[in-house]
Amino acid sequence: MTTIFTGQIRPLAADAEEIAEAFAVDDGRIIALGSAAELATQHPDAETVVLDGWVMPGLIEPHGHPAYSSILLSHLVVDIRPVTIPDADGVLAALKQAVAASGGEAVFANGWDALLQRGLPDPDIAWLDALAGDTPLVVIHNSGHSAYFNTAAAQAAGVGAATPDPPGAHFGRDDTAALTGAAFEEAAVEQIVAPMLANAQQHLPELLLSHLEDLARRGITTVSDLSWNAELNPLIDALHAQGRLPVRLRWYEMSRPGATAAPRGAGSPVFRQVGVKTWSDGSPWIGNIATSFPYLDTEATRALGLEPDHIGEANYTADELLAIAEPYAAGGWQLACHAHGDRAIESTLDVYEQIIKRHSLTDHRFRLEHCGAMTPAQFERAASLGVTVSLFVDHITYWGEVLVDDLFGPQHGGAWADAGAAFAAGHRATFHNDGWVTPNEPFRNMAVAETRTTRSGLRMPGGTPVTRVQALAAQTTNAAWQLFSQHEVGALAPGLFADFIVVDRDPVAVAAAELAETEVRATYLAGTRVA
Ligand SMILES: [Zn+2]
Repeated sequence: MTTIFTGQIRPLAADAEEIAEAFAVDDGRIIALGSAAELATQHPDAETVVLDGWVMPGLIEPHGHPAYSSILLSHLVVDIRPVTIPDADGVLAALKQAVAASGGEAVFANGWDALLQRGLPDPDIAWLDALAGDTPLVVIHNSGHSAYFNTAAAQAAGVGAATPDPPGAHFGRDDTAALTGAAFEEAAVEQIVAPMLANAQQHLPELLLSHLEDLARRGITTVSDLSWNAELNPLIDALHAQGRLPVRLRWYEMSRPGATAAPRGAGSPVFRQVGVKTWSDGSPWIGNIATSFPYLDTEATRALGLEPDHIGEANYTADELLAIAEPYAAGGWQLACHAHGDRAIESTLDVYEQIIKRHSLTDHRFRLEHCGAMTPAQFERAASLGVTVSLFVDHITYWGEVLVDDLFGPQHGGAWADAGAAFAAGHRATFHNDGWVTPNEPFRNMAVAETRTTRSGLRMPGGTPVTRVQALAAQTTNAAWQLFSQHEVGALAPGLFADFIVVDRDPVAVAAAELAETEVRATYLAGTRVA
């Protein structure tokens, strides 16, 4: 059965200026684009659907965390993110209220950010004990790269002074080796939130589905998960079999030192593993990205506990990263490495280069994630290696002033997430919102890459703006390519799936401020309306 969709269509990809009138869909895939009359003549039995608005390819989130987001943004976790609670007083009131209402049950809160919620205290174990007493309390930093816990929460998680630090992560300890109530980096954070994750399992089917439905309403038709838990695979398979899966999923397994992934297979166009996630350094907001330049000495960096001339260190040395990553790459998997600081990026490129040469890899599409302080020369080096980049440009929206005034100054902070330099170096660059870290608003994301202007109106003093064509490509065709899915999605073209959205304005022609406010009226996956 053929369906002809008509509207004001922006097929994008190769020719961003093109406007089509109609496309025909058969068995979920686009079979032809053209004029409505032409297609109706070619397919006399087709049903015609008139789309009310501008039509473009479904958006692709190339670096998301839908599984964790569905838990962290759920009723199981107190939402203290800076986008929800802008100031310190509000955060403290929310924590006190949650503890008071808990009846002694563990409280987990997500979104602490001392750089945006100015005046937050140092959340050490004594302070958290005083706040929550015998109620286990865990406060997760908005970046996900650290978490703070009281004594009761440590006991509930089975974490104590004798607990060894996991590879690439650590627990804060004082001079007597006692816990200070802080967990740094993924493997340590995961240990301290383990009781919450265990409790969340029973709720996951409905939480994950409702989160994916929310993404679909936001115009996202393919989402990747960079910290996927393969135990959820049967759940996704079941949702798909029931026709209830509203997005395509592409997932990355979290690397573990000494581990290897299952062999790479063909997989389904709806749901499959595409790679393996590794980490080089941490988060700019907690002081542990590996840069060649120091953090500024400011009130804000002092409040983070950073000494003057502090320079962050990577979580792994190049040799450690090589040992972790190489077995996965040898198994044919794409690597995606979290790297923010220019030293972490250089070291990751060194590791990538060794792996690429040793295994004579060609179309590997190894990824660098976030790329905060990546320099133009590094974008060029990455491009020459066939390494691709996904930038967290939305950092500018929320943390632009922090980057320039508080952390790194106009030269290094001002050029943060330099997407224009990435495109100039020839990259098929992509943008992302990193799961729960900033709201999934791809159009606003594209707009900020174009304006490099914060939500309060500061124009970043460095870096290069992208063009509209580049911005749109970043969350459509480039993202499809980065996820090894360019033969399935990313444009409206014959042979690709009919994943598309109907929006209220022309995404090519409107000004950046208007693009940011684009409303998604309908979302279709393989020709079927899902939102
Ligand atoms: Zn991430």
